[in-house]
Amino acid sequence: MPAPNVPVEIREFPEPDLPPGGALLRTAFSEVCGTDVHLWHGRLSGVPYPIIPGHVTTGTLDAARGPMRDVLGRALSEGDRLAFFDVHRTCGRCLACTVHRTPTRCPSRRVYGITDPASEGLLGGWAQKVYLEPGVIVAKLPDAVTFEAYIGGGCGLLTSVHIIDRGRLTMGDTVVVQGAGAVGLSAAALAKRAGAGQVIVIGAPADRLALARDMGADAVIDLDATSGGDRRDRVMDLTSGIGADVVIEAAGSARAFEEGIRLARNGGAYVIAGHYTNVGDSTINVHEDINRKHLDIRGCWGSEAAHFLRAIDLLERYSADVPWHRIGAKTYGLREINAALDDAGALRIPKALVDPWR
Ligand SMILES: [Zn+2]
Ligand SMILES: [Zn+2]
Repeated sequence: MPAPNVPVEIREFPEPDLPPGGALLRTAFSEVCGTDVHLWHGRLSGVPYPIIPGHVTTGTLDAARGPMRDVLGRALSEGDRLAFFDVHRTCGRCLACTVHRTPTRCPSRRVYGITDPASEGLLGGWAQKVYLEPGVIVAKLPDAVTFEAYIGGGCGLLTSVHIIDRGRLTMGDTVVVQGAGAVGLSAAALAKRAGAGQVIVIGAPADRLALARDMGADAVIDLDATSGGDRRDRVMDLTSGIGADVVIEAAGSARAFEEGIRLARNGGAYVIAGHYTNVGDSTINVHEDINRKHLDIRGCWGSEAAHFLRAIDLLERYSADVPWHRIGAKTYGLREINAALDDAGALRIPKALVDPWR
């Protein structure tokens, strides 16, 4: 991706000389997530274009210099199926890492495919091989986790593990999820597994809502066929007029925020995960919608290694029942990558997968 708002180009790079502890991953799948569309439209600040996009990526170990172990200490050999945590260089020493314990706000933190420049090499999953620098966290994929399930969950699943932490669900809670994209679908699935009594997904189009039901939603509300008032009435009907215990914003719209905080009950919680770029101001009445309601509002930025590992565990336990593989609806080769970005940007499919060998 040479720059925002121009076509993505295919370029050739040399294979790197691996330093001790370095490795190469042969890519099986990467993805086009919402962030990649934002990158293409130039809506993320501080991106060192040109970049090789593709942050959440999976494949097989192609080569390693020296003995290599995954984060659980298991020895790795060539051909092993792996995933790696796209966030690297988190320092572990700064104010954010130590005092505030918010490593996703570490200023040294870099992310494959987003904040790593192509000038530094194969640091993005839309490449046929990805350079895993020493210190990158890798995990062997369990036999029960297919590449398709891992990448179908992808970055939306990692984010959703973090969302559920931030939501602090209690068994039996009613959870409303705003958005039926890759994040919303995984958040619905995990909310249900985390003990929610009722999960309500608001989104569109109809086929995504059908998938939301298959992921675990108890009720769905079609965004295109309802007004904000209709949606609020429906949520109130489903909660005996009380409102939801937890509302999860996975829509990335300023209007969704205005609507979502009004769907939460008094003393409830609102978790914001969809505003990964600046989509402008929301207008709310702080007295009515926050203070008098005694509402908790929590942001949720990025994910940590713990979320990555737990995502793999969750896939191992539940991917036979929860159809994560169906989120990655269509696979594109590199020559089709601009069409993949168009399709993802127009929300024609929940998620475009990238197989750079096609
Ligand atoms: Zn740090
Ligand atoms: Zn992403």
